[in-house]
Amino acid sequence: MVRRVILVLGDQLSPDLAVLRDGDPEQDVVVMAEVADEAGYVPHHPKKIALIFSAMRHFAEELREGGWDVRYFRLDGDEAPRSICGALMRVVQDLSPEEVVAVEPGEWRLIDALEACPVGVRMVEDDRFYASHKRFEDWADGRKELRMEWFYREMRRESGLLMEGSDPAGGKWNYDKENRKPAERSLLQAKPMEFTPDAITEEVLALVGDRFGENFGSLDGFVFGVTRGQARRALSHFVKTQLPEFGDYQDAMLRDEPFLNHGVLSIYMNIGLLSPREVCAAAEAAWKAGDVPINSAEGFIRQILGWREYIRGIYFLKGPDYVASNTLEQGRDLPALYWGAETDMTCLREAVAQTRDLAYAHHIQRLMVTGNFALLAGVDPAQVHEWYLAVYADAFEWVEAPNTVGMSQWADGGVVASKPYVSSGSYINKMSDYCSGCAYSVDTKVGEGACPFNLLYWHFLDRHRDRFKGNRRMGVVYSSWDKMAEDKRRQILSEAEDFLDGLETGY
Ligand SMILES: Cc1cc2nc3c(=O)[nH]c(=O)nc-3n(C[C@H](O)[C@H](O)[C@H](O)COP(=O)(O)OP(=O)(O)OC[C@H]3O[C@@H](n4cnc5c(N)ncnc54)[C@H](O)[C@@H]3O)c2cc1C
Ligand code: SF4
Repeated sequence: MVRRVILVLGDQLSPDLAVLRDGDPEQDVVVMAEVADEAGYVPHHPKKIALIFSAMRHFAEELREGGWDVRYFRLDGDEAPRSICGALMRVVQDLSPEEVVAVEPGEWRLIDALEACPVGVRMVEDDRFYASHKRFEDWADGRKELRMEWFYREMRRESGLLMEGSDPAGGKWNYDKENRKPAERSLLQAKPMEFTPDAITEEVLALVGDRFGENFGSLDGFVFGVTRGQARRALSHFVKTQLPEFGDYQDAMLRDEPFLNHGVLSIYMNIGLLSPREVCAAAEAAWKAGDVPINSAEGFIRQILGWREYIRGIYFLKGPDYVASNTLEQGRDLPALYWGAETDMTCLREAVAQTRDLAYAHHIQRLMVTGNFALLAGVDPAQVHEWYLAVYADAFEWVEAPNTVGMSQWADGGVVASKPYVSSGSYINKMSDYCSGCAYSVDTKVGEGACPFNLLYWHFLDRHRDRFKGNRRMGVVYSSWDKMAEDKRRQILSEAEDFLDGLETGY
């Protein structure tokens, strides 16, 4: 007699997942399923699908070794179910358990699907985060404006991370001002740990190549870890080799250097192989041991304890309609260059090529290159959202959508970001070496060879003037625009229009 059927999703690969912690291998059965609906609701990067399927297969093996009965549905199995609900229905029909339980998925779409599933799924909250839904709602309640920094300070106090009594370690909550150095090639030494695919991964790679080989993205050179043991090794490697200078070079970008001091640990945290608590604890311990300076430890912990938790809080607070927000009413189709079409803009070409090859780009590339360009060019945020959700190995809607729709595209009207993250080419030039050797000239503001970011920046500000002119953080740029000679302004706008008219769109 089976007591419970326990559903474990592809991003819930944590041994201490609430439903496993409360489960009993003697009485309960675990269900895991690779299904077409999940693998195909956006054209996921093949490396992302391979990461998830391989990690799922390894996790199922580990559960079996721990005494669990695991019913595992493979995508290429006989009569594979199309959906998670379909897999549950098969097992329930077979075992007639007393109940079906699951940890709440990180996506409204799947929550709805489980709620509608005829087997009746009892969902429990995902407690792998610092802040529960209630904690975030209580924090947000009654505030006129939600800002990450205030939430982060409360999380610091509550977690005790980097605290000296009731004060922040080193006397400051935030060391961001020290974290804005452009990268120098001579300083590069480290990169994330790589792993050789084992037989399970090879089998998954063949399956993914066969079924999803047409999706945007290369499957060659798959080096992600796929077990908790590997993810833990990747974490120690990051803390030893990349974290010490993480702070200094957090925003830097260099051609042919996709990682710099970034650890690519989001892929492990987001599927459950690492917990945010152990990642933050490892960074704090390295700082306590004197191996990592405070600006790096704080900068890194803020990304996880602050941004990651805050972003998740917003996703669940704002509800299912949030992802469709389009405050600025932008409607252009996504340019074809996002899917790899030729472009002369080196920054975009580099960021997209790296995304295609690695299913990875670091934060500033996502925010200030691909995100910035889409916002300046007036692209429909729903299409931008779908692109980010598809192409990055760490993309799950709870974390991707508020970053894209909110932080990057300002489509939520300022919930996540108090002003839009837009810049001309000069920011990209300052933080990267992309501009040297680009077909466009970053120093040319208008006329022959002008960097498109320079033209589109003013075009964006001009077309959204009514909305942003009153924003106190944008007053200075509007007065610079107003001080420009009328004919120069007209020329900039007209060249920006010509550029936009020439943008090829579509896949
Ligand atoms: C448009 C856009 C889309 C994004 N989509 C995703 C996504 O789908 N999944 C995702 O995990 N992150 C997303 N981010 C946030 C960030 O870019 C990635 O977390 C980061 O690039 C992951 O690489 P890393 O692990 O090497 O980061 P590192 O810089 O080495 O480490 C920082 C860690 O902090 C966390 N973090 C940092 N910034 C954020 C943030 N803004 N939101 C949430 N967590 C953060 C991540 O877990 C990350 O592992 C997005 C950002 C933007 C601007
Ligand atoms: S010149 Fe402009 S388009 Fe070229 S790399 Fe620099 S910012 Fe990008």
